Amino acid sequence: SNGITADPLVAAIDQGTSSTRFLVFNPKTAELISHHQVEISQSFPKEGWVEEDPMEILQSVHDCIERTCEKLTQLQIDISSIKAIGVTNQRETTLVWDKETGKPLYNAIVWLDLRTQSTVERLIDKAPGKDKNHLKHKTGLPISTYFSAVKLRWLLDNVKEVAEAVFSHRAMFGTVDSWIIWCLTGGKSGGVHCTDVTNASRTMLFNIHTLEWDSELCKYFDVPVEILPDVRSSSEIYGIMKSGSLTGVPISGCLGDQSAALVGQMCFKVGQAKNTYGTGCFLLCNTGVKPVLSDHGLLTTIAYKMGRDKPAFYALEGSVAIAGAVVRWLKDNMGIIQSSQELEKLASAAGSSYGCYFVPAFSGLYAPYWEPSARGIICGLTQFTNRSHLAFAALEAVCFQTREILDAMNQDSGVPLTQLQVDGGMTSNRLLMQLQSDILCIPVVRPTMSETTALGAAMAAGAAEGVNVWDLTSDSLTSLPSEKFQPKINLEESEFRYARWKKAVQRSMNWET
Ligand code: ADP
Repeated sequence: SNGITADPLVAAIDQGTSSTRFLVFNPKTAELISHHQVEISQSFPKEGWVEEDPMEILQSVHDCIERTCEKLTQLQIDISSIKAIGVTNQRETTLVWDKETGKPLYNAIVWLDLRTQSTVERLIDKAPGKDKNHLKHKTGLPISTYFSAVKLRWLLDNVKEVAEAVFSHRAMFGTVDSWIIWCLTGGKSGGVHCTDVTNASRTMLFNIHTLEWDSELCKYFDVPVEILPDVRSSSEIYGIMKSGSLTGVPISGCLGDQSAALVGQMCFKVGQAKNTYGTGCFLLCNTGVKPVLSDHGLLTTIAYKMGRDKPAFYALEGSVAIAGAVVRWLKDNMGIIQSSQELEKLASAAGSSYGCYFVPAFSGLYAPYWEPSARGIICGLTQFTNRSHLAFAALEAVCFQTREILDAMNQDSGVPLTQLQVDGGMTSNRLLMQLQSDILCIPVVRPTMSETTALGAAMAAGAAEGVNVWDLTSDSLTSLPSEKFQPKINLEESEFRYARWKKAVQRSMNWET
């Protein structure tokens, strides 16, 4: 056999909001060997509601695994070279299933979903000083529609099957990682019901200091503790694959997608940060082994915990709900483009938004505002405005939102970032990268290998005790080959546009109250 077949390989399941991927890496070089991707359908059953089908998600995982194995075989790579599998996932998205039938009891409620807005407003109204941050000392999070606890509360209150399953001790709650791991490790015949600390830290039921489910928080949201998964580290053997071509391979890594991207971008040192442009946009900065609370609307979250006996690392996070989702909206809802790739050409044709500003507050505004009652607006229109200006304004919106969270990050840390490491599906858009650099006035650095989220999950899986095929201390890991975009406009112009953006944001506020 030739060299490549002998090398151990590590795989990752990347279950994102818009698609599922399965990817296989060489742990010696971090090189991507093969992969397969399947788009996931979303349903919007009511205004503000966003759901996905857990069975479709599971099927897409199986399909991606099998197709990738076929591709490996075609490359004459023995699939038994795959020594471990990591899981990374869209975070906060909430599921409840029946452990006896193995079936979901409702669709997955996607993180972007706004159905809990009135619940959230009621909780904030009841809070001391009407302070949305009154659970932040334990959770690192403001009360928001974004996190799992309120979505789970909605399921308990509104879905009869869920309430009945809880009553008869058949209900299991989980985020997407838990659902996938439980199903792949045997499901109703002995599946492992677990999650990792990074995913747990997004539920609002988890104490980020003690690293345990918090009985007070469970009481606050009236959630039965027995339906919650076991919380594990991000890198340990959780169980083994019980079906398909990879039967017997351990699942040994688990990280929420944004944590995984931080790991995949090798941000292991305090002060290192990355911004990922997918459906939403998420800037995370490693703050080390002590949680830092933000004064500027950022979240405190768990970055990773690379083994049972290793310490948890924390991150400050700026979350933007709508980034790539605005591109999908222009395509699916408005029909302005036929494909996401087409956006770049259309926006380039405009060269500027000519005073058009687009605040895509479709799910309210997340960081730094945390304003569920905001709604999207497009302003500054004239007779001259056409669809290419709108396309340009949509890309600029992503850049301005990033500027807002980067400003908050710089204020919290006191040490401004001198360049921004980026990744995610949207970063294939070169115009976006240039605009981002212009609007931030710092270089934007994009790795040539764009699948850093999956890479992070594979690293966690390969480094787990009992697997040990990925050396996370190796020097070759410190920097990925990348491309740099330098700012090209002057500071004054960039500041002018940013000030206009802020004005537009103010107009999107307090709309749906
Ligand atoms: P997620 O992990 O949230 O599923 P991805 O990282 O896969 O997201 O990125 C997909 C998102 O990026 C989609 O919302 C899509 O509209 C957007 N996108 C993909 N390619 C482009 C492009 N060339 N220009 C702009 N947006 C793009």
